[in-house]
Amino acid sequence: MKERPVLVWFRQDLRLRDHPALSAAAAGGRPVIPAYVHSPEEEGEWALGGASRWWLHHSLAGLDLELRSRGLRLLIRRGTAAECLRELAAESGAEALFFSRRWEPAAGLQEEAVSEKLKALGLAVQAFDGTLLFAPSSVQRAAGGPYQVFTPFWRACLQLADPDPVLPAPEMLRGPRRWPGSLPLEALQLLPQPDWTGGLPAAWQPGEAGAQRRLMAFVTEGLVGYEVGRDALGQEGISRLSPHLHFGELSPRQVWQAVDGLPGGKAYLRQLGWREFAHHLLHHFPHTPTRPLRPEYAVFPWLEDAPALRAWQQGQTGYPLVDAGMRQLWQSGWMHNRARLVAASFLVKHLLTPWQEGARWFWDTLVDADLANNTLGWQWTAGCGADAAPYFRIFNPARQGARFDPQGKYVRRWVPELERLPDAWVHRPSEAPDVVLAAAGMVLGRTYPFPVVDHAMARQRALAALAEMRKRFRAGC
Ligand SMILES: Cc1cc2nc3c(=O)[nH]c(=O)nc-3n(C[C@H](O)[C@H](O)[C@H](O)COP(=O)(O)OP(=O)(O)OC[C@H]3O[C@@H](n4cnc5c(N)ncnc54)[C@H](O)[C@@H]3O)c2cc1C
Repeated sequence: MKERPVLVWFRQDLRLRDHPALSAAAAGGRPVIPAYVHSPEEEGEWALGGASRWWLHHSLAGLDLELRSRGLRLLIRRGTAAECLRELAAESGAEALFFSRRWEPAAGLQEEAVSEKLKALGLAVQAFDGTLLFAPSSVQRAAGGPYQVFTPFWRACLQLADPDPVLPAPEMLRGPRRWPGSLPLEALQLLPQPDWTGGLPAAWQPGEAGAQRRLMAFVTEGLVGYEVGRDALGQEGISRLSPHLHFGELSPRQVWQAVDGLPGGKAYLRQLGWREFAHHLLHHFPHTPTRPLRPEYAVFPWLEDAPALRAWQQGQTGYPLVDAGMRQLWQSGWMHNRARLVAASFLVKHLLTPWQEGARWFWDTLVDADLANNTLGWQWTAGCGADAAPYFRIFNPARQGARFDPQGKYVRRWVPELERLPDAWVHRPSEAPDVVLAAAGMVLGRTYPFPVVDHAMARQRALAALAEMRKRFRAGC
């Protein structure tokens, strides 16, 4: 009897190891057809940004290579997922479709449409978990409902059974006798025209092989010092696994297994817990990518200041730590978490720009842009999300710099104009005496900008805006 193949729909799970859907499809030696459907329209307003598209191109190329080394290939289609997968099923005579669940609101709708269409054709459709350690629906407060505070959320997760052991890549993979057609990867036009990605290839190796390499390097070199090193801006105290985790080139279970029980492992898993928390929140509060979780922030008196926003985007605010973060982002597609906190806080508190503007800029420029994590990060910073930093706590960028980058290594790397300033002034050039500036070859306003806003004034203005928001909200109630 002719064996009918199983379609494996790849999404944010671009790997072969620890891939429950692929392993189940390959079980028993059935033929497998791996497919990727590019459907930006179905992601709504959160279609991939420029840096993520660059990453995706290379990650898909890597996945295809891995599959080819095992006798398969990745089929690429463009259109709505339900229609493309229906066509593939019809062309290949597939008997089933397997895929990994995603938790973003638009992805959930897409899954429903796909299941409905393929089940109507008689295919068995099965969704697998694999992108999170704990499914958002499996973690609930004793009183019912979702968590909104991280520590009890993570405690509840840790009381659940440990994640299942990691699955190896399937040893035996077999393709169909006749392959349906595929678009060439280039047809998706994921690479930017003109090419602005200069610093990205040097900084990253997208794909499963790069993810494995980075995980191993971090476990052997970085993990032990992670708890104290994770905030130090001038060193490599963090893992930089975020884009690999986002695209599913590495599963969180693999990370769990690699670090669990090792010195530094507990602190590291707690950070991975924030990723789980972010997805839990997005799942239960799907409106939060655009609207604040705390309703009073809907009437916050934001300012429209296009030149200030542009200065922030370009790393030209006159605050070295903010500028270093924003230039690291532009040049490498990524930013250290401490710099993200300070740069985001500067936008929403010093410049009173709506957090949604910052979230959109990050969405377009980060290689790890992730709807759940980005939403949590911005709402946390703006004070309007779950377990958020209180709005009245306003970071002083110069003090943050002195604390987390005391020798100015980080700011000098990304803002070379500051190269020759002594450590004492490198985080506050606008306060440096003229002779110091002259000796460092700096002319404020020419080689490096004056601050776009004065810190003390901005602080007072932000606190007044908070008071105004409370007044407006009370008046509206
Ligand atoms: C304003 C703002 C926006 C952010 N946007 C994103 C985003 O789009 N995508 C993204 O992956 N992270 C985002 N983060 C969270 C965090 O900055 C990054 O996950 C982290 O810097 C990635 O570097 P790493 O892999 O070296 O982290 P590590 O310190 O090595 O942490 C390991 C992993 O834990 C997870 N993690 C760590 N911190 C957080 C956190 N605060 N929230 C959620 N998950 C976390 C990430 O998956 C990360 O890869 C944002 C933070 C802020 C303040």
